[in-house]
Amino acid sequence: MLSKHQKERYSRQILSPFIGEDGQEKLSKIKVLQIGAGGLGSPFAFYLVAVGIRELTIIDNDTVSISNLQRQILYNENHIGIEKIQVAKEVLSNFNSEVTINVYKDYIDENSIKKYIIDQDFIVDCSDNFKTKFLVNKIAVEYNLKCVIAGIKDFFGQIMTIDPKRTACYQCVFNEPETINQESGPLPVIGVTPGILGTLEALEVIKTSLGLPNLENKLLMVNLINLMFDKIDLVKNENCICSR
Ligand SMILES: [Zn+2]
Repeated sequence: MLSKHQKERYSRQILSPFIGEDGQEKLSKIKVLQIGAGGLGSPFAFYLVAVGIRELTIIDNDTVSISNLQRQILYNENHIGIEKIQVAKEVLSNFNSEVTINVYKDYIDENSIKKYIIDQDFIVDCSDNFKTKFLVNKIAVEYNLKCVIAGIKDFFGQIMTIDPKRTACYQCVFNEPETINQESGPLPVIGVTPGILGTLEALEVIKTSLGLPNLENKLLMVNLINLMFDKIDLVKNENCICSR
């Protein structure tokens, strides 16, 4: 049951025929594991916490620098040099004290992730590199966790949602690079791009939780130069890790 306070706080979304009190109750039980607290992770966390999920667990290993501020809207000039997770915890807890915010300074690999995935409903990639995206996908498949993965570069982005037993996974669509080029340097990006893609990641978690149409078996390609949003149909690959 929603409390009187919850009914008031979320009244405008409860009015939506797509949500209602039943939908809000579903949202209030959702637990999400978020990998990365940067450009994608900032709007993602804000909108999920705003909608009133139960618990958000954020893993990040970085500190705030001045070049982050044009896109990582969780942070401001006073946060430069401070751990992102520390700021994220404070900002998001003040934003909505009803949502439990857990933060961990950690680097994700196949072993370290295990202690964070217990009881989660979703794992969401908000990282800035392919290696982590493939790893998040592998973990989603191995532990049968629903998953959202997005990627951005410059004015362009892409996003998909995965329910590992039923739908195409990230590895069905993309080939894992054999070597990750560490010396390629920072990619170009305008803050609006992760702003939109990170917001879409939050939307996917919300709509998937509510049983509304989502990006399962679809890859949404976003071109913000020409303002084109193209959905490509995906098919599960029988030889992929998700089909074993
Ligand atoms: Zn697959």
